[in-house]
Amino acid sequence: MLPSRYFIELTQPEIAAQLKSNPLVILAAGSVEQHGPHLPTGTDIFAANVISSAVAERMDGLVLPATPFGVTPMHMPFEGTITLTPDTYMRVVTETCVSTAKHGARRLLILNWHEGNIPSLAIAAESLHREHGMSVLTVQACYVAEELYGKTCNGLTHGGEIEALAVLAFRPELVHLDRIDYSSEHGHGHKMDKLRRTRSYQPVLADIRSIAATGWFGTPQHATAEKGARMLGEIAEAIAREAADIFRLLDTVQGGTAELRQLRQAG
Ligand SMILES: [Zn+2]
Repeated sequence: MLPSRYFIELTQPEIAAQLKSNPLVILAAGSVEQHGPHLPTGTDIFAANVISSAVAERMDGLVLPATPFGVTPMHMPFEGTITLTPDTYMRVVTETCVSTAKHGARRLLILNWHEGNIPSLAIAAESLHREHGMSVLTVQACYVAEELYGKTCNGLTHGGEIEALAVLAFRPELVHLDRIDYSSEHGHGHKMDKLRRTRSYQPVLADIRSIAATGWFGTPQHATAEKGARMLGEIAEAIAREAADIFRLLDTVQGGTAELRQLRQAG
């Protein structure tokens, strides 16, 4: 039984034994950016880490030490934001995971809570799969949260209830519901979020203020630590179940380590 699921809290022999018994690693992907007056700038990376750890418990995996940073030029108009370029971010993600592949990690679950990371993560995932022998699955955990809690939380909005719940599930003292102020207009925010999340059309929105003039919008007033803990459990349960199914499928039908094994045998 491991004392923690976080790679950097474990010793070398603990990690070596764990990778041998289950070669699954989970990379949390998030961002450091302004989230209004009531949520910390680390909201996205805190959400990704706490969900990753809960998924790792259920799937018997290790949570890699991820960079807290992501690709977020969109939020740079506000203090409290630090962004990487897509190229830097891809390299950090790829080199982190390649190191563990060299030590025997074979399955990689990338668990992302920041939409601006999606294109870079897709390219990194492809390279980790094709060139480094990992079976790779990416899950957009913020969209899983929206599927499960969007209806009761007024959607997935920047700084809204779903994000507040994620931080409450991690460290409640970082959420300041008494400081909620200057939410942008909801109708416009939802319209713009919908526009950027369709499958067919992808407009470039360079500045968060084109969605929310004040940098955030939503209704986090009713978020509680208890609801946050419930949301965390349900998201982790859903991701662990789905990811286990998909990894099994990748192994048997077309991809991942099975594909490489077959190529080696054929060669
Ligand atoms: Zn966020």
